[in-house]
Amino acid sequence: MKKAALHNLGCKVNAYETEAMGQLLRENGYELVPFSEKADVYVINTCSVTVVADKKSRQMIHRARKLNPDAVVVAAGCYVQTAREQAMADEAIDILIGNNKKHELVEALRAFEERRSQSKRWMDITDISQETDYEELRLDKTAEHTRAFLKVQDGCNQFCSYCIIPYARGRVRSRDLSEVMAEVERLAGNGYREVVLTGIHLSSYGVDNGESLLSLVQRVHEVEGIKRIRLGSLEPKIVTEEFARELAGLPKVCPHFHLSLQSGCDATLKRMNRKYTCEEYKRGCELLRKYFEHPALTTDVIVGFPGETEEEFEATRAFLKDIAFFEVHIFKYSKRRGTRAAAMPNQVSEDVKNVRSDILFEDTGKLSYDFAAWYAGKKVEVLLEEETVVEGRSCMVGHTPEYVKAVLPGKKNNANQMVLAQAETVLSDHSLLLKQNSTENID
Ligand code: SF4
Repeated sequence: MKKAALHNLGCKVNAYETEAMGQLLRENGYELVPFSEKADVYVINTCSVTVVADKKSRQMIHRARKLNPDAVVVAAGCYVQTAREQAMADEAIDILIGNNKKHELVEALRAFEERRSQSKRWMDITDISQETDYEELRLDKTAEHTRAFLKVQDGCNQFCSYCIIPYARGRVRSRDLSEVMAEVERLAGNGYREVVLTGIHLSSYGVDNGESLLSLVQRVHEVEGIKRIRLGSLEPKIVTEEFARELAGLPKVCPHFHLSLQSGCDATLKRMNRKYTCEEYKRGCELLRKYFEHPALTTDVIVGFPGETEEEFEATRAFLKDIAFFEVHIFKYSKRRGTRAAAMPNQVSEDVKNVRSDILFEDTGKLSYDFAAWYAGKKVEVLLEEETVVEGRSCMVGHTPEYVKAVLPGKKNNANQMVLAQAETVLSDHSLLLKQNSTENID
């Protein structure tokens, strides 16, 4: 039996596609082995979101070639799509597969083998901006056993000035509702309790097929066996009164909303070509807080965007405190060739970016603590996921619907169980320590 190893770089959508390619290989007779082992085929699902991601993608391609000089090395995805010439010139790669073509992996391997004696490479990269069909891939099982990430959408029409993704992933394409439902049913049948709906621009789900994200969630909510539905990153303006009210009426929807912010200053948002103002963003947060008791609001922020003055940075800082996010992912702006922001004047120095990032890191750490501390002394619902050791003690670890990590002392083989337990205190990593004998099974 031939051995294949896969490596994923980048986002949850890429991770879904890597697992789906793994499933395709398994169904076609390959044995999957860890990437560090000698394999006959290596698949690197590349990322191109930053210059660093490009570099890591190249490194993994070369690592694969070194692990087995005779292996077939496949480079797929965003780096191949955006740096086509460079990837084609790389002799470590045998097969190049662009986005929307990953479902053809097995055919590409066969075609390559047939031409191998002529040492010809196989390439399948199209003009992604012309792709109008959603690429159907399938996943029945994932590496995680309780929570399954489910890709429902691809592409983005937003063209934020710092982002290369629309050039790597093309325009918005939504997965057919019946295909999503079939996959959710399969995942439920395989024991998954939680699904996370993900996409490149999830809020655009349905703009091309007459559906909407809300109607999708309502349908997924009907699936028996699925206890939780979590949403991936959302566009702030999707949160209307109706959206918040309807979601709040669906008990399986987790009150955990990741609303992509990027900056808390209107002038910076404008340069970023983001399509909302701080006021509109805040309104979305207020609506979620109106309909959910204590929703976890999480976000991403970029510091050091070109032209970001001290005043603009301070505006972002104040905005983050005002919203009181549970978690903020802080990114230092990194120039991406081929984007408008890369050519903007007044680029911010790395030193200033480091200082600003450290300040926000400290501020938002306090916000996370405060959010988690709200639960101390209260009963919380936890989906137990796996055994671990925390501060020298054997524990089960899981998450609340708000995605607060929770730790239950006492090693037990009860992964995938839903429990109610008393939260005692908050640990240094902002997770909740649960009281050992307070659990009640609520499956
Ligand atoms: S919304 Fe903006 S940041 Fe997000 S993928 Fe689209 S262009 Fe990139």
